[in-house]
Amino acid sequence: MPIDQVSVVRMCGACRFEIEVITVKKDNMRLFVDDKVWCEICQSEQPEVRDVAGRLETIRTEQANYPVSPTSGPPVLTRNDGG
Ligand SMILES: [Zn+2]
Repeated sequence: MPIDQVSVVRMCGACRFEIEVITVKKDNMRLFVDDKVWCEICQSEQPEVRDVAGRLETIRTEQANYPVSPTSGPPVLTRNDGG
């Protein structure tokens, strides 16, 4: 299956409530729209906000690849005053 389609989340611009996920062709993908959308949470029409679905998961996967160094507390400073 060709990967020329992307999932786009339609969200309420006011409260970020996820209204629906649509699948569109990459060529037709528009993340910035002037449409208004009915939000159940706001109980009113709000400006629609779109974001690519799955982007968060991609970021999460990338972060998981970074090595995690355990924190071993503050460094111990030794001071030699002579003697
Ligand atoms: Zn809302």
